[in-house]
Order: sequence, then structure tokens, then C-alpha cells
Amino acid sequence: MYKTVYLKKGKDASVKRRHPWIFSGAIERQDQDIAEGEIVRVLDSEGNFLAVGHFQIGSIAVRILSFDDVELDLSFLKERLGCAIQLRRNMNLLREENSIYRLVHGEGDGLPALIIDIYDRTAVIQAHSVGMHLWRMKVAEMLLQLMPEQLDCIYYKSDQTLPFKANLNDESGYLYGKEKNNIAVENGLKFHIDWLKGQKTGFFIDQRENRCLLEKFSCGKKVLNMFCYTGGFSVYAMRGGATLVHSVDSSARAIETTNANIALNFEDTLRHKAFACDAFRFLSDMTEDYDIIILDPPAFAKHREALHNALKGYVRLNVAAMSKIKKGGIIFTFSCSQAVTPEQFRTAIFTAAARANRFVKILYQLHQPADHPISIYHPEGEYLKGFILYVE
Ligand code: SAH
Repeated sequence: MYKTVYLKKGKDASVKRRHPWIFSGAIERQDQDIAEGEIVRVLDSEGNFLAVGHFQIGSIAVRILSFDDVELDLSFLKERLGCAIQLRRNMNLLREENSIYRLVHGEGDGLPALIIDIYDRTAVIQAHSVGMHLWRMKVAEMLLQLMPEQLDCIYYKSDQTLPFKANLNDESGYLYGKEKNNIAVENGLKFHIDWLKGQKTGFFIDQRENRCLLEKFSCGKKVLNMFCYTGGFSVYAMRGGATLVHSVDSSARAIETTNANIALNFEDTLRHKAFACDAFRFLSDMTEDYDIIILDPPAFAKHREALHNALKGYVRLNVAAMSKIKKGGIIFTFSCSQAVTPEQFRTAIFTAAARANRFVKILYQLHQPADHPISIYHPEGEYLKGFILYVE
């Protein structure tokens, strides 16, 4: 029988609205010796059942896995993973020309704190909670059962994502098989994916659809891709017929990967040039009159406490680009900070436009793609926000 957590009176409203997190402040009392990562039942102040989930020490104390009083066993996991696989099949994501997609997106797939990304025949599992860390072998086993024909290896990569306080060893490594190939394709474009040392699980899958939009706009244009990482936007701009593509990232390793990905797809690499440089410095020194600038910085706010400075950072970055872009230029601008709401990001862009003193028009509002679904009960899941702006 699972141990129990009792909520304070009146603190059950969000659970009844199926929000998947219980904050530590909502807990009245709990059974003794609940271990981090253990499954707990959540009851209201009168002892009525509310939910069952993984317990964790920290501000989010319980990540809810079910609002039904069920056992969280292998068949539960099979059902949830099965639904996630079905959604991706329904979206027709796995095709010959597309072997990169997110198979499980945490709360959006009813599996909080679990990420699974697919790169061709490799699955990369990432746990953001101790509960999911403890489940990693079960998850791997179930994946092999559900997708026996599609996977050659499963890599577990959680060295950067598990709570520091849990004091776990670095347990990243192969759970099944071994890497044979690290090249995967996205919409017919090839990418080297470094799940061993790269950021996130090795690639930013969430920009796939936005990169397609850039490709459509790129013909005959000069494109600047700031914070390029593995060069995703640059590769699409090249295929779209850009006459010049510049990629900027402060990490020398990212620049190396970007150059490798350009060479993997194109023979006329002279149209492309990559710079290992700070983005703010590059923007302030730049003299080229780019037609399109992409601003896809890392999450400036990783926590709520960092929000104020993060918003200032978005304003400063966008002012720099808006002030310098040519008349009729286009800016793709993003925030991937979960702590920044869509309204806050829009206000930051508004502030930047006003400070830059330019007439800015919103052409598109951008989001994360369908393989990063957002639970309707969990608005925080809408983490990627963006605009395509036309600057007069
Ligand atoms: N647009 C990328 C993802 C960007 S991730 C894609 O589609 O794949 C953010 C990147 O910003 C990282 O590669 C990081 O190295 C880089 N970065 C962080 N701070 C930076 C800075 N001050 N100047 C330039 N690049 C920076």
C-alpha cells in the first residue's frame, strides 16, 4: 500500500482541476519516512482520495500520475506510453524523411518529469524527478515491448536534470544497445545528434515547425541565426535558398556542430559562416544588413525568482535586433522559459519595439509542435513562445 500525503483544508481545488503538481505548502501532514521518488496517495483534509503520484523533496512535492485510485504498475506505464506513441503516429511524425521526434513530453503526456526523444533508432530518456529516475529501467523495458522494430538503443541522460538534493550519482549511460549511428533526419535534413554531451537530449526538436517557416521565407535572403546551437535554423535557411547565412553561438562546440551539419547537407557551404561569439556583442558590432534575424536564446528564467531579470534580458536582446535590422526586415524571436508566460513575453516584445522606436507587426505567433503537447490542465506546459515580426 502506498504511503499517504494529506492536504490542508481548501488546498484541493487545483487537484480537482487536474493540475498535476502539488506544492509542498499545500501539505498538512504526511506519513513518516516517505523516500524521495516513492509513490504516494494524496488525500484531502477529510481523508478523501484525490490523486496518486511521485513524491519529491522540493517546492513541487508530488507530481501526479493519476487522478484515479489505481496501482502505478507496469500496465499503467504501458497504457500511458501507448497513448503517447499513438499520438505521434496520428500526427504522422515518423516518416522516412523524419526520424526525429519527441515521444514523451512530461505532463503533456500524463507522465510528469519524463522526456523521451527519438533520434532515428535511438531513444533518449531523461528524468526530471527521482520518481522517474527510479522508473528508468521499467520505461526502457516497456519501450522495447511497444516499439520492438524501431529501436536499436536506449540512452539514459539525466546528469543535468535530476534534483541536486537527491544526491544521485551520474547514472547516464546506455540502458540497451550501443550507438551505431548518430545521424538522424528532420524533414529530409540530416543532423548529427550528440546525446552524450549535447544540451537537452542532444537536439532542440521543439523548433521543427518554426524552422519550416523560416525555410519558406529564406529565398534570396541574408539570414542571421543567433544562439544557433546545432545550426537547425541555419540548415533550413540554406535549403530555403538564402544567399548568406550567419550562425552565432558562444559555445565553440556548438559552432563546430553547426559547421558539421551544414557540410552534411550542402556542397555550397560558402554561403554559410559561423561565429563563436557572445550574441549581445555580435549584435552591437554587426554591420551586415540582414533580412532575417533569429533570436532563440537559452531559457533566461530557469526559476520564478529569475523572472524579472529574464524579462529584462528578452527586452535588451530584442531592442538590439530591432534597432539594427533593415527596414522591412523579419525577426523570429523566442522564449523557451517555462516561468515566462505568453503575456509576459508579448509585453517584453512590445517594450522592445517601443524602445527601439520601430513600427513592428506580428506576422505569426509561434509555439511548440504537436509532439510537445500541453495538458489543458497544465498551462505551464506552454513553455515555447515566439513571434515572427515584421519591422518597418
Ligand atoms: N536555436 C537552437 C537552440 C538554441 S539553445 C536550435 O534550434 O537548435 C541556446 C544556445 O545559446 C546554446 O547553444 C548556447 O550555447 C547559446 N548561448 C547561450 N548564451 C549565449 C550568448 N550570450 N551568446 C551566444 N550564444 C549563447
